[in-house]
Order: sequence, then C-alpha cells, then structure tokens
Amino acid sequence: MGVQGSGKGTQSKLLADDLDLTHINVGEIFRWHVKQHTKIGAQVRRIVAAGELVGDDLVEDVVRERLQQHDWNYGFVVDGFPRNRRQAEFFLESYDIDGVIHLDLPDEEVRRRVLARRLCSRCGMDYNLIAHRPETEDRCDVCGGELVAREDDTPEALARRLRDYHDKTDPVLELFRGKEYVTSVDARGDKATIQRTIRERLGLPSYQP
Ligand code: AMP
Repeated sequence: MGVQGSGKGTQSKLLADDLDLTHINVGEIFRWHVKQHTKIGAQVRRIVAAGELVGDDLVEDVVRERLQQHDWNYGFVVDGFPRNRRQAEFFLESYDIDGVIHLDLPDEEVRRRVLARRLCSRCGMDYNLIAHRPETEDRCDVCGGELVAREDDTPEALARRLRDYHDKTDPVLELFRGKEYVTSVDARGDKATIQRTIRERLGLPSYQP
C-alpha cells in the first residue's frame, strides 16, 4: 500500500518477478478494460480519467475474478487494493494475507514524482522524467513509441487522489495494523534500498539487483 507515486508498481514488480509471485495491479486491469473498450471499460472510463475511485462492487468483482484464475505457484502481490475500509474487509474475509507493505511518502514528494511520470503509448513501459529519463525526449527506449502522461496524472486529479488516499486509505492501514503484519518503509530512498528493506522486514531472500 502507498500513495500514488510511492513506487508500489516498481516494488511489487521487483518482488513478483524475483520470487515468482503473481503481480495483480487493479488500476492496470481497469486501464486495460478502457483500452479494449469492454463493458467494464465503458463503466469506469470517466472515473479512472478523473482519478476518482471505482465503486466497491465492481472492484470486488474484478479482484475476485482475477484471483479465481489461480495462476500462481507461490502466492501473489496485490498492488493498488484495498483502498478503503469496505475493500479491506472483503479482502480480509476472502483471502489469506501474509503481510502488508506500506510505502511511506510525504505528499510534496508525491506531487514532484507523479507529475514527472510518463508511459509509452505503444508498449506501456514506465518512465519518470526525474529518475528514469528516456534516451530520446518523449520516445520509448524499447519500442520507439510516444511517451505520454497518464490521463489521471494532472495536478487536479492528483489533488483529488491525495485527498481520497488520506480520507479513505489511511484508515485501512489502521485496520490492518490491528490484524495483520504491517511494515512501513520510507519510500524516499532509491528503489534497490527500498526493495532490500522490504525483503529484510518480511524475512524474504535478499535482493540482488
Ligand atoms: P492506480 O494505477 O492504482 O493509480 O489506479 C488507477 C485508477 O484505477 C484509480 O485512480 C481508480 O480510478 C481505479 N482504481 C484502481 N484501484 C482501485 C481500487 N482499489 N478501488 C477503486 N478504484 C480503483
């Protein structure tokens, strides 16, 4: 868990790739539906573009359906879920959770990072104009596609997401703290240090970049 731009995607992918866990990113599932013009895509397109939260029933359906695929051997890392108390209660009732990783980042740093975020419009590769610049301006290093900002990475949408995060997601952390193992990690460091700290805290094999 962590506010937008805290590195949830990066850290959970590092964990998943290295430890053979399935990475489940709820926001990415919604963006896929929007791009593929599915029925769900039509329902969530405006909500996702505005940086608002999709309704809990739909989120729960998407998570349930994704987890029913059982395509993992060693477990899964869920990224971007749960985001409010109801989602957290659904998650706790339905699945076994070994640990909650909280990436802690001050709002000021969130603004700086998120507004520098870019995505390849062709292959989906992530860039950041501060930490991971493309070699050629606005072009993907891998496929040459055009780099664009996510539609919901505007100052207005970000302000709304930060407000939502503090109103709705902070209480989820409190709920987890009462029931599950929560580890809070300072998300301002470089990505290898953060990954190493997460592994140490969870007793996982150490990280070798
Ligand atoms: P993310 O990539 O995690 O920032 O998610 C992108 C967008 O997908 C969010 O701004 C929401 O509109 C939607 N979304 C993702 N996860 C959730 C969730 N757990 N609950 C509600 N909406 C979500």
